[in-house]
Amino acid sequence: MAGQGIAAVDVIAVKRDNQVLSGEQIDWVVDAYTRGEVAEEQMSALLMAIFLNGMTPPEIARWTQAMISSGIRMDLRGVGRPTVDKHSTGGVGDKISLPLAPLVAACGAAVPQLSGRGLGHTGGTLDKMESISGWNPMLSPDRMLAQLGDVGAVICAASHDLAPADRKLYALRDVTATVESIPMIAASIMSKKIAEGTDALVLDVKVGSGAFMKDLESARRLAETMVELGAAHDVSTSALLTDMSVPLGRAVGNAVEVAEAVEVLSGGGPADVVELTLALAVEMVGLAGLDADPAQVLASGKAMDSWRQMVAAQGGDPDAPLPTPRQTHTVNAETSGVITGIDALAVGTAAWQLGAGRARKEDPVQYASGILCRAKPGDTVTEGDVMFELHTDTAERFADALAALRGAVSIGERAERRPAIVLEAVRR
Ligand code: URA
Repeated sequence: MAGQGIAAVDVIAVKRDNQVLSGEQIDWVVDAYTRGEVAEEQMSALLMAIFLNGMTPPEIARWTQAMISSGIRMDLRGVGRPTVDKHSTGGVGDKISLPLAPLVAACGAAVPQLSGRGLGHTGGTLDKMESISGWNPMLSPDRMLAQLGDVGAVICAASHDLAPADRKLYALRDVTATVESIPMIAASIMSKKIAEGTDALVLDVKVGSGAFMKDLESARRLAETMVELGAAHDVSTSALLTDMSVPLGRAVGNAVEVAEAVEVLSGGGPADVVELTLALAVEMVGLAGLDADPAQVLASGKAMDSWRQMVAAQGGDPDAPLPTPRQTHTVNAETSGVITGIDALAVGTAAWQLGAGRARKEDPVQYASGILCRAKPGDTVTEGDVMFELHTDTAERFADALAALRGAVSIGERAERRPAIVLEAVRR
């Protein structure tokens, strides 16, 4: 618990007293924790001190570099196309990576989407994709590079050698109520994306009840911090701040979200999902230096072709029926009127209760579990109309999901203007 003349307890005391950590202290504590030399309780205390007192920009930059240095940095230069990735800070019904990666590939870029699994109320891209029969998230670096060159899009699990410090720190933050810290979120996301080797990166920073950042000001600070970190590592980075007060689209879960993504690729799908997919695609194509028009490419069916190739290249059958739930239950409108709000966090929590997510990282998920929002803000409903369709394989989960949904819907007399899905952009 001490090394290079540095003791963990002194590092904790610096942050406890709201002082600035030295570069050597940061390098040492991140490395020693990753190697198991700094105890979990000591890192927990340090994380809480960072959560409460924050970090200066140089501290964040050094912490991010220490996390990158904990593992390998991939080299994607042999891919033969400009590489550009997207990362979302996490939301409810956020299936955007599924239509976005093949769309941007069909525009001529290579999209190396190294993704994670869901924990808590936000879903994970790998859990969603795994509801496709035969689809394999594990690719060797060689296969990933080959697929990036041939198909232009990969969604797969990140190698354990990529920013291993983040893997340990994220799990600890999750159980110590220290996830929602701007320095820690910025370092976590950017260390993984910089280590992944992408040339360019677009961040989807979510704002609202279903997001880590509940207000625009904090989301802006997070976005600015990450854009600066990207630039410092020669990754052209920009961010869109996007609304997460309401679930994105109508589907929240695993298979139901895949089905909605396929609708978008077929030229349909909910307007907010299409709007956000295109906004992020335009940003990515611009950073990649390409002049394709994502709306035209989507309409041409080429993005759907790329999706089918991407799924098949990883053993999946794009034509296989998706899993269906053993049990369903509906929630009906209690009064008539116009829907003025649906709380994203409540819907995310209910989907998680139904089995779409996991409570501990080793838990399995139910691919058929989730929620369909049959009505969204702006829709007029009559008492008794179906508001939500709940899906699960285990009926005893309905009670907790229904409790989570209590009070989630606001119904008024007239429609309020819905905030635009893209609230702001942060560019350098
Ligand atoms: N996503 C990440 O990868 N890390 C965080 O800390 C938060 C969201």
